[in-house]
Amino acid sequence: MRKLRKQKENARPVAPALLRWYDKHARVLPWRFLPGETTDPYAVWLSEIMLQQTTVAAVGNYFRDFMSRWPTVTALAAAPVDDVMKRWAGLGYYSRARNLHACAQMVANEYSGIFPSTEDELKKLPGVGPYTAAAITAIAFGKCATVIDGNVDRVVTRLFAIETPLPLSKPEIREHAETLTPDKRAGDFAQAMMDLGATICTPKSPSCNRCPVIDMCDANAQGIADTLPRRAPKKARPVRHGACFFVTRPDGAVLLRKRVAKGLLGGMMEVPTTPWADAVAEDYAEFAPLKAKWKKRVGLVEHTFTHFHLILTVFVGEVSAATATKAEGVWIAQDELADEALPSLMRKVVALAGIEGGRG
Ligand code: SF4
Repeated sequence: MRKLRKQKENARPVAPALLRWYDKHARVLPWRFLPGETTDPYAVWLSEIMLQQTTVAAVGNYFRDFMSRWPTVTALAAAPVDDVMKRWAGLGYYSRARNLHACAQMVANEYSGIFPSTEDELKKLPGVGPYTAAAITAIAFGKCATVIDGNVDRVVTRLFAIETPLPLSKPEIREHAETLTPDKRAGDFAQAMMDLGATICTPKSPSCNRCPVIDMCDANAQGIADTLPRRAPKKARPVRHGACFFVTRPDGAVLLRKRVAKGLLGGMMEVPTTPWADAVAEDYAEFAPLKAKWKKRVGLVEHTFTHFHLILTVFVGEVSAATATKAEGVWIAQDELADEALPSLMRKVVALAGIEGGRG
């Protein structure tokens, strides 16, 4: 602690310059509390969970929708988890939605509806890792915590001209970031670093001539800002293959199944699908949910997950009312598909089958 204090005393005065810039240029975001406003830890937590692995642009409407449906953590805790999954559909990384609901229930039941305010307590909540705990501590409670997201990684790497490639450079980045974090206004500082990374210190062609901390930036001084951060070469993503069966009954309703709660897309709805394997299967028909004259759709559905790329063949078929009763799953009217908790992958399947699936 004493070492860190000493380092902070010797740190470059990035925080004062950056905070002055932030006071004038902070981005207006639906979940953001401007300097001087009272923060709502629930809104900060909700936005941080939504923003994990998702862009600011994609989150806006979801955040507004959740806040108007469930304006408090106790309201969200009381909602059926299936409703939460439905409203989350399209945001991806669905374990976040299950954890979101579990976390709301824990805060409602074990913390009387009041979010804890320390990083250690916050990390005990479902879905709250070190980054999110630091972000809530700093942004919602104004306490000193160092928040490091992808934008901050880039800004710190450039400020200190760190040439070690990511992710190997993470410990070095953290060490430097801690020396920069001010004891006061840590939340504004964290958001200012994120804004700087998002608007000026951008991945390609940073606008250094508009940067409030250009005088303190080693990468700019050395003329290497464009080349940082370096990255270790990525391994190629494996490709998996499978098929989906889009089946309708005489009234036009479509068969959907709910995926098991654990694992990829857990708890979400799906158009019945085969297992996904490394090679194209000889005969997908054996996995069909019902007997039908299956017709293969022209084209394929492709979707990239974090750890693999998926290519799906889509079959469409119709069954009689009597056959439909043998299906495992639920029959959903086509004009109600948009309200189902269908992940983006399955919305692509529905679109290729030729049906309007609603939200993308
Ligand atoms: Fe980023 Fe350029 Fe500012 Fe350095 S001077 S922090 S590279 S925008």
